[in-house]
Amino acid sequence: MSFENIIGNEKVKQMIEKTVKTNNILHSYLFLGIEGIGKSIFAREFAKMLLCEAENKPCETCEACFKLKNNNHPDLMIIENEEKAIKIEQIRYLQQKISEKPIISNRKIYIIDNSDTMTKEAQNCLLKTIEEPPEYATIILIASNENKLLNTIKSRCMKVSFNKIEDKDILNYIEENSIEGITTNMISFCNGSIGKIINVRDNKDDYLKLEELVKKLDKEDLVYILNNADILYKSKEIIFELLEYLNVLLLKTKEIEKINCIKYVEETKKRLTANSNYDMTIDNLLIKIWEEINSENYSRC
Ligand SMILES: [Zn+2]
Repeated sequence: MSFENIIGNEKVKQMIEKTVKTNNILHSYLFLGIEGIGKSIFAREFAKMLLCEAENKPCETCEACFKLKNNNHPDLMIIENEEKAIKIEQIRYLQQKISEKPIISNRKIYIIDNSDTMTKEAQNCLLKTIEEPPEYATIILIASNENKLLNTIKSRCMKVSFNKIEDKDILNYIEENSIEGITTNMISFCNGSIGKIINVRDNKDDYLKLEELVKKLDKEDLVYILNNADILYKSKEIIFELLEYLNVLLLKTKEIEKINCIKYVEETKKRLTANSNYDMTIDNLLIKIWEEINSENYSRC
């Protein structure tokens, strides 16, 4: 893969290409931007360009490119969060490895994906390496929430900001990949993230069912709504995404009663995070939303 196949963020592409061409490579970079816009793919591509042995990088045919394709290049290490965090042991391992000279290349690249999940101890530990990296090393931190990173780390990195992908590029992507059944509401929900589009595609039917339910909120009685909200009761695994989508749907109606309901959705998210009874929390959400939307008719009854 080369940049030709990666959508959006032209400025970042140019920056990386220039960096490689002029061989003006820094020791630490911070790739910042929302989830699902390709930061990780860019980082891997950057690593490939730095490690490729050919004149025209990445050539896809040299030994380095071949090893990278098979995920077994000894001079590239990718660190990812285990469960929810990147722990100090992982950073200690990085430190141990980074002090060893490159094996087949003249550089060593370390990518820390979701670096904003590093614990405080892990970040403090990494700081020592970032302050005095070996001359052959480059560390690429990837993050979506820079507030979770220590200032002392951020100030040592060159910040590379990624923008959300434009709707027209998203539409092209949907067309080129023959993804069917994606509504305009779903595109708004994805907010320029291809990663999110892919998630939505995989659960498209659930998102469509939720759209149907929202359309019925001011047309059907409460019993009907409760009986036809299976999508919320049965989708525990993706409930936070669905609630986020519910907010988008409510907001897009531009009707004040519906927009008012966003506060109940937010309340529901908090309750679910606090592990309250799942079905009762959803019951409660639907009742409150229905009452809010139908308040006029409801009080008259
Ligand atoms: Zn190559």
